[in-house]
Amino acid sequence: MRGWLTRLRRSIPEPDPDLWLEARTRVPWIGALDTERDARLRTLAARFLHRKTITPVATLALDDAQRLQLAAMCCLPLLEFGVQGLHGWSQLIVYPDAFRVNRSHVDAAGVLHEWDDELIGEAWESGPVVLSWADIQADLASPREGFCVAVHEIAHKLDALDGALDGTPPLPRDWQRAWARDFQRAYDALARTVDAGRDTAIDSYAAEAPEEFFAVCSEYHFSDPALLQAELPEVAAHLRRFYGPSPFE
Ligand SMILES: [Zn+2]
Repeated sequence: MRGWLTRLRRSIPEPDPDLWLEARTRVPWIGALDTERDARLRTLAARFLHRKTITPVATLALDDAQRLQLAAMCCLPLLEFGVQGLHGWSQLIVYPDAFRVNRSHVDAAGVLHEWDDELIGEAWESGPVVLSWADIQADLASPREGFCVAVHEIAHKLDALDGALDGTPPLPRDWQRAWARDFQRAYDALARTVDAGRDTAIDSYAAEAPEEFFAVCSEYHFSDPALLQAELPEVAAHLRRFYGPSPFE
């Protein structure tokens, strides 16, 4: 793997040093990385920009510095997993703000239900990742409050790599078994608390589904690791192994 990364470094140009310095200043998660992981993220971000199309929509325009910052944030969850985490999709669509999505579903009785969802991010199993620029900026302004929409959506992409969006990314077999057991137990406990109408320290959105639980806990790993450790120590340990130590540890 190391040899492959070295080859990668030769074939794809590294980001402009001034733009990378700007990214380190603007994005607190990057600024907090040690030298070795900073270099790894820089290489991953270059690979991201080489392989993905970033498409701003409506009134939004993104310059090279902002594209690099986006790419680097999307690569934070890949620091340990590696560049193969980018597999299976090609487009990052960025809306200026939260966006409305029309949903429809035909129920068992054949009745069509339609509704609108307002989203700040979205990731389909093999389609594009969609992010709201305003929400990225809010994450950057308050990086320690448990939110990072870029990490959330990329966690979904990692989850989907094994063909099932179920809260378990591809892992070695023994680890996958332990992960599934520990995550299920933590998810069930959170869902019971939410169902009982009690407040939870972890965002109750995590109780929507196992895949949301994984994505939301991934946000805490990067933006409030102390809370995750206090509330869900087993989940925190798996995520620390999967993502490497949180930049804010
Ligand atoms: Zn989600």
